[in-house]
Amino acid sequence: MKIAFVGLGHMGSGMAANLVKAGHRVHAVDLNPDAVAQAVAAGAVAATLPQACDGAEAVVTMLPAGKHVLGVYDEVRRLTPTQAILIDCSTIDIESARQAIELAAEAGFAMVDAPVSGGVAAAAAGTLTFMVGGADDAFAAARTILDGMGKTIVHAGGAGAGQAAKVCNNMLLAITMVGTCEAFALAEKLGLKDQVFFDIASKASGQSWSMTSYCPVPGPVPTSPANRDYQPGFAAGLMLKDLTLAMSAAAQANADTPLGAKAHALYDALCAQGHAGQDFSYMMERIRRGA
Ligand code: NAD
Repeated sequence: MKIAFVGLGHMGSGMAANLVKAGHRVHAVDLNPDAVAQAVAAGAVAATLPQACDGAEAVVTMLPAGKHVLGVYDEVRRLTPTQAILIDCSTIDIESARQAIELAAEAGFAMVDAPVSGGVAAAAAGTLTFMVGGADDAFAAARTILDGMGKTIVHAGGAGAGQAAKVCNNMLLAITMVGTCEAFALAEKLGLKDQVFFDIASKASGQSWSMTSYCPVPGPVPTSPANRDYQPGFAAGLMLKDLTLAMSAAAQANADTPLGAKAHALYDALCAQGHAGQDFSYMMERIRRGA
């Protein structure tokens, strides 16, 4: 298929390369020429947005925020044949996702929101999890393309349901990470070695992904960012972005999220202290310090 791919940053570059490997003709669009050059090196064709959309059978976007997505799709709707499937993989607010899909439907397009779980490594390896919102036929059309970039593809519901699943999941991830950091910090103060506490809690009811796959102290899980001075991984700044989206969704839905709000405040403070670029498990250091 001819695919217009817009947004070739940390995530989009790996995803576009996997679409090339899957046999698609990928036309790469980004404001940053270096990002386009990297995509070309991986087998894509450098293009402007009009060139990429002309005759495209699919448009995939991987952009920073809702305003970028709405802006790009304003043009995509004018430039692309209505048979094309529109797939936004960015993490954005639910309202913008719904608006983009509504405007696309009014113009005759099928569109899905399809945010991802899994970071840069999963994007490069083609093992992302996609959480997809949109109509059944739009999901079916998107699936053939998402298969080239991910391992697990779940239809979460109607427009915006992918973004809803994403913010709920990441709010839970932030909460379990903060809780895991607190438990290790307290265990240390009570005289337990990190490895001993891990051996117990990872097999007991305190177990979570934050502990067993992404342990925030060095040692027990050798692949976790704690073992490489908290280089991301998943940066604290991106976690703050997702928690901000979660808090805004909670306010709109009138949902009580006291631990989500606390996690948001803690990540806000961590980022304000200059640690937005470190892995989100760097929360361990903040909790150990107590400030
Ligand atoms: P990034 O900043 O590295 O990439 C975004 C790219 O979009 C940049 O290359 C930028 O030049 C380009 N861009 C911005 N506006 C544009 C426009 N109008 N036209 C064309 N290109 C434009 O960001 P990223 O880390 O790749 O993240 C992309 C999305 O994926 C975000 O929504 C993020 O929240 C989400 N996400 C990121 C991760 C991660 O680990 N990095 C994990 C899951 C989800």
